[in-house]
Parts: sequence; structure tokens; C-alpha cells
Amino acid sequence: MKLLITNDDGIYSPGLHALAEAAAEFGEARIVAPDVEQSSMGHAVTHARPLRVRTTRLNGLEGLRVNGTPADCVALGCHVYGDIDVVLSGVNLGPNIGNAMWHSGTLAGAKQAALLGLRGIALSTFSETDEPDFVTLRPHIREVLAELLPLAHLCLLNVNLPPVPAGIAWTRQSVRHYDGVVLPGNDPMGRRHYWVSVRPIEEVEEGTDRWALQHGLTSVTPLRLDLTDHGALSADVIHSADR
Ligand code: MN
Repeated sequence: MKLLITNDDGIYSPGLHALAEAAAEFGEARIVAPDVEQSSMGHAVTHARPLRVRTTRLNGLEGLRVNGTPADCVALGCHVYGDIDVVLSGVNLGPNIGNAMWHSGTLAGAKQAALLGLRGIALSTFSETDEPDFVTLRPHIREVLAELLPLAHLCLLNVNLPPVPAGIAWTRQSVRHYDGVVLPGNDPMGRRHYWVSVRPIEEVEEGTDRWALQHGLTSVTPLRLDLTDHGALSADVIHSADR
């Protein structure tokens, strides 16, 4: 099995190293990752300038660092290495659940794989205090890969690990409404600036990714690329407007 490892935190992230190390136990692992952090860049692709690639050695694995986005890295990595079976993106330093799936660069790496007809698995974690403890997480990353890699019929998966996972739960995306809070402040020169943030308005629902993390479980959400609202498309309200 040939695995391509990418992320959105940049090639020097400890999460990428932990994932590459775990992936190497399941096959041939190659790293292609952004040279600087690309978090919250979503599925942006670089089209108006060329991409620069530099070879990097990371813990004995060959890697390429790219001045592009996670989606760029996957497109480029599949071109350079060829015959990639699965793209693993992460392990992100921070959760990617609910509405974050819309702007996650980590998930975009996995989505790009699915768009290319390959399999993509995004992995994220978080810490209540400082940085995630990848020594503690290592066996859990290995465990979830051992469970998911054989499931060849699932082409796009979003995985979120709590700091100390107690098990694995299959979940759905927690889509809730957010208040879109914007916090004003002043920079050291006294000029006005703003932090764009969000706070969930509604309570957590059972069976969702957010619920799993709250219960100390690793959340695995199967996703699809088709965003069409098939219910609306077949509903009388749309077809009656045509008449
Ligand atoms: Mn990130």
C-alpha cells in the first residue's frame, strides 16, 4: 500500500511526524506537505503561480515541502510519486468537527484525494492544555488506521481523536448554527483590529462528531463529495416552480 502523508499545519508539525511514523507500519509512506502553516485555508488551490518543491528528510522518511496548500500538496504528490492508494492528512493540531469541515485545510487534503479517485482520511486531535501528546496518541493513531485502512469502499473519512481515546465511534457531522462572534481589539499602535470567531448556539446532539469527542471517543465520520440537497431537488416545491 502506498500512502501519501500531508497536513495543513506545515511539514514540521509533530502531528505530521506522528502520522507518518504510524503510516509507515502499513505500507510505503511518502510526505508532501506545506512549507508553512495553511490552517483554515480550506480547499484552496494555487493556480496563478508555480509551486516550488524542496526535498526534506523527516525521521528517515522522504518528504517534499511545498509553497502551497494541502490540496496542492496532494495533487503534486500524486503526480510525483504516482500509484498512491490512500492520502492521510494530519494529524491536525486542533479538532475538525461540525462547521470546521467547511474551512479545514486538513480535510481538504483528504478531499483532494477523493476528487482524484483515491481514498482520503483526515485525522485531527486537540489538547485541553498545551500541545497534543503524540506519545500517548501513537497507539491510538495506529489502532484507527488498522481499522480504517482495510475499508476500501469508504473513500473519504474524517477522524477526530480526543486526548486519550476510550474507543471509536462512527458519527455524523454536527451541523449547528453559530453566532459568528467578531471580537474587536487594538494593536500596540492603538489601531483597531478584529478577531473573527464562532460560538455554537445549540446543544450537542448524540451520535455526532462533537458528541463523540465529548465522550472521550475517537470520532469517524464518513463523508461524500456530493453537496447536492437531494431531498430539495426531488421536492415538489422546486418542480412546482418550473410549471
Ligand atoms: Mn491545522
